[in-house]
Amino acid sequence: MSRYWSDIVSKLRPYVAGEQPRIPGLVKLNTNENPYGPSPKALEAIGQAADERLRLYPDPAATELREAIAARFGLTAEEVFIGNGSDEVLAHTFQALLKHDLPLLYPDVTYSFYPTYCLLYGIEAIEIPVDEQFRIKLSDYDRSCGAIIIPNPNAPTGIGLPLAEVEALLAAHPDAVVVIDEAYVDFGGESAVPLISKYPNLLVVQTLSKSRSFAGLRVGFALGQRDLIEALARVKDSFNSYPLDRLAQVAATAAIKDEAWFETSRRKVIASRKSLVGELDALDFEILPSQANFVFARHKSRSGAELLAALRERAVLVRLFAKPRIADFLRISIGTDEECARLVSALKEILAA
Ligand code: PMP
Repeated sequence: MSRYWSDIVSKLRPYVAGEQPRIPGLVKLNTNENPYGPSPKALEAIGQAADERLRLYPDPAATELREAIAARFGLTAEEVFIGNGSDEVLAHTFQALLKHDLPLLYPDVTYSFYPTYCLLYGIEAIEIPVDEQFRIKLSDYDRSCGAIIIPNPNAPTGIGLPLAEVEALLAAHPDAVVVIDEAYVDFGGESAVPLISKYPNLLVVQTLSKSRSFAGLRVGFALGQRDLIEALARVKDSFNSYPLDRLAQVAATAAIKDEAWFETSRRKVIASRKSLVGELDALDFEILPSQANFVFARHKSRSGAELLAALRERAVLVRLFAKPRIADFLRISIGTDEECARLVSALKEILAA
């Protein structure tokens, strides 16, 4: 450890992103990307904007994109905040809204970036255990807190929290900011966006990485009443005045407007998830009920590490997490039907050995 490091840097446990290896013919089901590719209209918009105008700085307020998102969700542009992926939106959220005298609450099985942000910003957090079925139990959040963050559907379990429960949480904690991280909501979850007008303490975070197939573009956004959005803008403008480059702004605007592409792609993923669950069930996996573009499953007799390694030998990549409670679960992103078929045939071969 360097003697030049500050205390905070020494204590950080940085997030480890899923691998992006270059293995020819790889079936890549490890980082929840969408297998179908972004809207052709969005790609066209990038082509049209890639010219000498790139010498100019982008619109620091991402006005057109914010207006397009606002129109899509029935909000005003002042209720929309934009960032480089929802990871950056979350980073600003942790810094601007989640540090209080009272602790932040989040589930113990959840998105592993949350503890990292807490360390980075010196936020005291209490991890609330999920129950035996890996569900979030609302009554466990019945304690004093400064803020709460919950992914819905949860990651990496894929389990959704019904909207009525999200509303109960908001109503029970009027003085705490409640952040609902909806990275995966478009694959069957219930969005909390309709509650924004009623609850000034609600911030909803979404991304274009999953249902709009733009993980490579890095665009995420937060929706909430003006007060919360203003806090995020204050932090962003104290850090980096350009949330998105020019190409990302035009592409994301076109992607948000292309509702037909979005619908087709998310429906295909949901249908493939249903058939993959059937196949895994037949192979003796325990599968958590998923409302996301991945499934979280453990085999009844083989370890997660063994399956991960054997799949990798067959050029199929899935994800495993180090946390003891979920150590045998494979998180499998939903690919095309051909990719899912290759996963299933690899598993059949491994389990027959
Ligand atoms: N929230 C959750 C729960 C996630 O799983 C992810 C994806 N790793 C993100 C946010 C961040 O997604 P992105 O930065 O690509 O928008």
